Amino acid sequence: MFAPKKGDLSPSEKELFEVISAGNVQEASRLLGCKDVRVNCLDEYGMTPLMHAAYKGKADMCRLLLQHGADVNCNQHEHGYTALMFAGLSGKTDITWMMLDAGAETDVTNSVGRTAAQMAAFVGQHDCVTVINNFFSRARLDYYTKAQGLEKEPKLPPKLAGPLHKIIMSTNLNPVRMVLLVKENPLLAEAEALEKCRRVMELISEKCIKQQDMNEVLAMKMHFIGCVLGKCASFLKERQDGLDALVKSLLKGQDADGFPVYQEKFVRECIRKFPYCDATLLQQLVRSIAPVEIGNDPTALSVLTQAITGQVGFMDAEFCTTCGEKGAQKRCSICKTVIYCDQTCQKMHWFTHKKVCKKLQEQREKQEAEAAKLRTQQSKEDSGAVQDAMQQLSVESSADAAETSGPASVPAADN
Ligand SMILES: [Zn+2]
Ligand SMILES: [Zn+2]
Repeated sequence: MFAPKKGDLSPSEKELFEVISAGNVQEASRLLGCKDVRVNCLDEYGMTPLMHAAYKGKADMCRLLLQHGADVNCNQHEHGYTALMFAGLSGKTDITWMMLDAGAETDVTNSVGRTAAQMAAFVGQHDCVTVINNFFSRARLDYYTKAQGLEKEPKLPPKLAGPLHKIIMSTNLNPVRMVLLVKENPLLAEAEALEKCRRVMELISEKCIKQQDMNEVLAMKMHFIGCVLGKCASFLKERQDGLDALVKSLLKGQDADGFPVYQEKFVRECIRKFPYCDATLLQQLVRSIAPVEIGNDPTALSVLTQAITGQVGFMDAEFCTTCGEKGAQKRCSICKTVIYCDQTCQKMHWFTHKKVCKKLQEQREKQEAEAAKLRTQQSKEDSGAVQDAMQQLSVESSADAAETSGPASVPAADN
């Protein structure tokens, strides 16, 4: 197959570029069925239909083109832009994700030497930067499922790659959630398997630091996952009730306010054990966390999550008190201060929450009463203020009236 020539387009291909601009997926689908339409044809600038769709931020169109075999790594653009770069520039995280999932290379640079992540950062599309930096393809993990060099067996048994990749791709770093993911997979929930996974996580972390285009974010994430998996392994070895005991330890709150002290200490310890001391990210994390007394906000987990996934834009989303999943909506009916995904998460948390639930309820009611009192006081003051203001207004306007109606009582200084 010969490479398409730039700008050498059939009439139907020209039409395809037009319907992509207009966002007409149905028409694009019809055109892609035509004999004289090549999905990777190039316009005069060397842009493919996929690049156009990505740049325009049209997810359905991108999906359609990929289904028709669009080459995500086509690199004929006059300035070396790839479809992933266009996706990053568009600011659409779903399209960025789609390109990565379709196998887009992240370390390709354009004619001014910038990668897709750097391009996205340059135009302020930080959510796309996060998606790119957090992405870790299954293929990169599968490398460890093959024996390398003199190895008799691979570092990662192939059957573990699937469940491990699921944990890697989660943007929820809550250790409880990770332990639950381990628990739900019998292949993974076994000390020896977990030790192997932990080792692979550390190797990937090291690679992320030592590779040419260093990725501290991914290195820290892999290290953290490795730490949690290691903890799972040690609980399975040492404790009879294994992972359940670990979940309980992570959730157990202190008597005063239910703050999960063990979890906080564990997350801090994981960060401290990051082996690459020179990493800027590590220093940032330590600077943010060290001055915070255990039990106060922000928690180490929230600082870590923000650094790795950039989740600051999700402030209005509700996070499960137990597992940290987004979109939790079930509130404890007594205290109304904690929120869960479902009853399973609530039940898991109840052994420790029941000790503070009543106290939290009282605190909330007291706060609400005070807020109500403040509101009535405020509205009284407000209405007083309005009256004052109106009085003032009438005084001023009568003064105005006096000024304008009277003779030039205030002489102009300049005259
Ligand atoms: Zn939950
Ligand atoms: Zn409660």
